[in-house]
Amino acid sequence: MQIRYDRDADLSLIRSKKVAIVGYGSQGHAHAQNLRDSGVQVVIALRDGSGSAKKAKADGFDVKSPAQAAEWADVVMMLAPDTSQPAIWRESVAPAMRKGKTLMFAHGFNIRYGTVTPPPDIDVSMVAPKGPGHRVRETFAEGGGVPALLAVHQDASGSADALAMSYASAIGGGRAGVLTTTFTEETETDLFGEQAVLCGGVSALVKAGFETLVDAGYQPELAYFECLHELKLIVDLMYRGGLRYMRHSISDTAEWGDYQAGPRIVDERVRGEMKKLLGEIQDGTFARRWIAENESGRGQYKSIKRSERNHQIEEVGAGLRKMMPFVQPVTVEENE
Ligand code: NDP
Ligand code: MG
Ligand code: MG
Repeated sequence: MQIRYDRDADLSLIRSKKVAIVGYGSQGHAHAQNLRDSGVQVVIALRDGSGSAKKAKADGFDVKSPAQAAEWADVVMMLAPDTSQPAIWRESVAPAMRKGKTLMFAHGFNIRYGTVTPPPDIDVSMVAPKGPGHRVRETFAEGGGVPALLAVHQDASGSADALAMSYASAIGGGRAGVLTTTFTEETETDLFGEQAVLCGGVSALVKAGFETLVDAGYQPELAYFECLHELKLIVDLMYRGGLRYMRHSISDTAEWGDYQAGPRIVDERVRGEMKKLLGEIQDGTFARRWIAENESGRGQYKSIKRSERNHQIEEVGAGLRKMMPFVQPVTVEENE
């Protein structure tokens, strides 16, 4: 395992390049602002009529079309949604990527599954912060950073790794640690983590616990606190000191219940299903289905999103959070 810090990076490398950031969303705004604060020349690439353009301009950035930005830049970082990247690459970026330029990603999906195929004479690398974009900006502004993964897919110049390390350092990754990986390992572990544990697993566990209590006649508000609100308190303990510190902090009764019930909830069937998910990520089944879902207009995605939004736990939670300003409640407005 190779892990590197700011002292292993040469910041002058990325400072000598013109960097185009494609997209100004969660990751885009964070990379752009951190790079600028590190003394790097940055332009934001957005399509005509982009809702993000106003924000980028208000933050003081120059905004160009993806084609113009790629023409201008030495380094193009792709931070549009993964599903939009293949068309952006084909139509706007690829024509400008002459020998000596560098194409970068914050996630390996499109390289791993072959939906972007760069010519062999350019460098292709990845700097993937292991955290949401807003944290990438906030921690940097506070003097810290979010750990990042670094990978090189193509090294035509011989300096792809050093330049990626310089970029990682300029966005704050070098303050927390930059781990070397491959596009394949990053993509497969990222997809597995979000499906099995972080997003899919946790959401389903929270809903199932909530429904079990409510179906048994307990008050929904109480079920919300028990199964969703308190999760943060538990995760914060794990984050700081692992499972051991969490178990040190909870009551002995909770700890005994943890040991007894955990393996009954996540049993052999669940573990078998995790292996199946991983298999579908490795053999490309998941990617093929997600790409097809996008090509056919996201019908299933939209209908599941709608029904999830109407789940009782969301209604109950919104009401309770209004009464708890200290959790800094947010409401998501979406038209889909
Ligand atoms: P967002 O959805 O937050 O932002 C997308 C941005 O791209 C918006 O500014 C959007 O602008 C712009 N955009 C959309 N379509 C186009 C287009 N056709 N041409 C140019 N710009 C376009 O993306 P994320 O930051 O979530 O994801 C970006 C990358 O970072 C992905 O590869 C993702 O896997 C990776 N990543 C994301 C993390 C996260 O925290 N979200 C964590 C680690 C990696 P508009 O729609 O206004 O035009
Ligand atoms: Mg992911
Ligand atoms: Mg309790």
